[in-house]
Amino acid sequence: MLSRLAPMRYLSGVASASTPGQIPQSNHSTPNSQQGNQRASGARSDLPAFVAWPAFPFEGEMRLKPLQEPVSAEPPRRGDRQEQCSACHTPDSAYLWSNERWRLKSPPAPSGLPVVVILEPRAHLDLGDLSTMHAAELGVLTVRLERAIRNLESVAQVHVNRWGDGTAHLQQWFLARPHGYLQLRGPFMTMWDEILPPVEEHEWRMNLEYIAAWLADD
Ligand SMILES: [Zn+2]
Repeated sequence: MLSRLAPMRYLSGVASASTPGQIPQSNHSTPNSQQGNQRASGARSDLPAFVAWPAFPFEGEMRLKPLQEPVSAEPPRRGDRQEQCSACHTPDSAYLWSNERWRLKSPPAPSGLPVVVILEPRAHLDLGDLSTMHAAELGVLTVRLERAIRNLESVAQVHVNRWGDGTAHLQQWFLARPHGYLQLRGPFMTMWDEILPPVEEHEWRMNLEYIAAWLADD
C-alpha cells in the first residue's frame, strides 16, 4: 500500500469540534493528582483539586461556568446523515495511509505535540457499529500505531482517545507526548497541544512519514 504525505484536505469542522479537551471530574486519577490536592492559590474553594495539578495549564483567579440545563434531545452530530459526512466524501489522497477498511489522517498543520493522528474506518461506522472483524482490526491497528508513534525519539507516550460527541464517523485520536515534558502528562495534554508553539513543519512531516511507512510495512 502506498503511503503518501499529501496536503491534508480537511473539510470544514473535521478537527475543531471533535478536538479532544475534556476536563476530568475532581476525583479523576492521574499521575499528577498525587501532587495537587491543595487548592490553587487565590482559587475559590468550590474549584476542583485538578486546578492545582502541575499539568493544569492555567493559573490565577478562576471561576466555574454555570452548568447549563440538560437538553431533552441531543443535537445531531456532523455526519449523522452519511450523505453529509465529510470523512465519507474525502479521497484517500487526503490521508497519510489507507488500506481496504481503514484510513489514517492528521490535522492540516503542525500543532504543539510532535504527532497528532486520527484513525477512521473507511465505512461510515461509529465505534459501537463495528463488526467483530472491524473491532479486531481496530485493536491491532491501535497497538501498531501506538508502537510506531512511541518509537519516535521525540515521543515518550501516546494518548489514545475517542470522544464521538462531534462526529458520527468514528475517529480514534492518537496524541504523542513529547519526551521529558512531564507537565504534559494526563488529560490536559489536549489543551497543551493548542497552547504550545507548533513543532517545526519539517519535523512534523518527518514524523508523519515515519508513521505512514510503519503502517505500510506489513
Ligand atoms: Zn462517514
